[in-house]
Amino acid sequence: MELNKFSKVLIANRGEIAVRIIRACRELGIKTVAVYSKADEHSLHAKLADESICIGPAESKKSYLNIPAIIAAAEISGADAIHPGYGFLSENAGFAEICQKCDFTFIGPTPEQMRQLGEKVAARDVARRAGLPFLPGSKSAIESVDEAKITAKEIGFPVILKASGGGGGRGMKIVHKEDDLENAYLTCRQEASAAFGNSEVYLEKYLENPRHVEIQIIADHHGNVVHVGERDCSVQRRHQKVIEEAPCNLLTEVDREKIGGYAIALAQQVGYHGAGTVEFLMDDNKNVYFMEMNTRIQVEHPVTEEVSGIDLVRTQILVAMGHKLPFSQADVKIKGHAIECRINAEDPTSFAPWPGHITAYSCPGGYGVRVDGFVYHGYTVVPFYDSMLTKLIVYGDTREIALKRMESALKEFIVDGIRTNIPFHLKVLSHPEFINGTHSTRFLEKAGFVKPSH
Ligand code: ADP
Repeated sequence: MELNKFSKVLIANRGEIAVRIIRACRELGIKTVAVYSKADEHSLHAKLADESICIGPAESKKSYLNIPAIIAAAEISGADAIHPGYGFLSENAGFAEICQKCDFTFIGPTPEQMRQLGEKVAARDVARRAGLPFLPGSKSAIESVDEAKITAKEIGFPVILKASGGGGGRGMKIVHKEDDLENAYLTCRQEASAAFGNSEVYLEKYLENPRHVEIQIIADHHGNVVHVGERDCSVQRRHQKVIEEAPCNLLTEVDREKIGGYAIALAQQVGYHGAGTVEFLMDDNKNVYFMEMNTRIQVEHPVTEEVSGIDLVRTQILVAMGHKLPFSQADVKIKGHAIECRINAEDPTSFAPWPGHITAYSCPGGYGVRVDGFVYHGYTVVPFYDSMLTKLIVYGDTREIALKRMESALKEFIVDGIRTNIPFHLKVLSHPEFINGTHSTRFLEKAGFVKPSH
């Protein structure tokens, strides 16, 4: 990998992550190209970039997922690299390959690395070779109802069926008894085939009250892989993260090194480079079990930045340019506590999306408060994409201080004209279980905030 400097980066994404990447590029003296759909003409990312190119109509398939339009925009603008952000094409190995063929650096791992880690069944194979711990379950894809029954009996109910190509909390079915297994297996396969174009399904033990703990890693092209500690993402609705924190209040430095070591081993197994996240479930005895790897920057990366002092997006761009990691494992020190609340345009009780015109907008601020968003006073939230508007991130010396700071910052937020989940966040923040840090991934349903998902 020759060491060069990008002169222009095209961002194949929208919203807050596009803004985040534009900011990192500006600080590095790199010009930026935003692409936007017709519905996103007034989005902040299209305004902040040095150049902005409309790549199609509102529908994602015709714009943010439209590979020929994105490549054409990169060619016309003379970009030399493409940052995919998260979601959209960020984990599409075919897109990374086309970028490569067209001589654009894809800011992320190689297509081959993405293929080895992107699909869950394949990733489990790699993780097994790297010596990571697993929940009891099928070694690979389950090929028949009989096989599902035999495996489930061996490990005991409840079990969870998971689509190999699943993501964003979709493609999973929890099964409590044998009678329900056949139907669940067949529908899971059908749904997986329709939603992800891959009917492969595997099965593992369903943990009743786990914590979701994930390790951030970053690796360069020179064989250096470093982990930047863990995030706890146990506050979930329908298996999707709502609040994230770093570090996990249950882990010690020794635990962190152990789990971090697993994440590094997995990355090394495929010679990974770029930013990535290795996700684990953790039981009551602090045993962790590999779930999956995300081969991209994640929504919740800021909490890691706050407690480590490492700018992950900047580092991601530096390593894509061929630079060595500017820090070693020994330099990574986790200090204090950070929490992120995802502020969505939705009804705070029913969670129904609530797009519309923002008639008044004012962000919180002050010591230890960070807002990563893309909306502003007078902006109209469009109904075509994810409902996340902004991420509110707070930092404090302790978790207690961070919790208080988050509560105060949420109360300062003014978003008029649409509904947001800010009242929901305030309720969660005042719940004793969350305050004590004894919550599990089932917390929101057990505490009655959301309907049970099964
Ligand atoms: P996705 O790719 O859709 O994000 P994951 O495999 O990362 O799916 O799982 C998302 C969430 O689903 C986890 O954080 C956890 O809450 C739940 N989950 C997944 N596997 C299990 C399991 N074996 N037992 C209990 N909960 C699980």
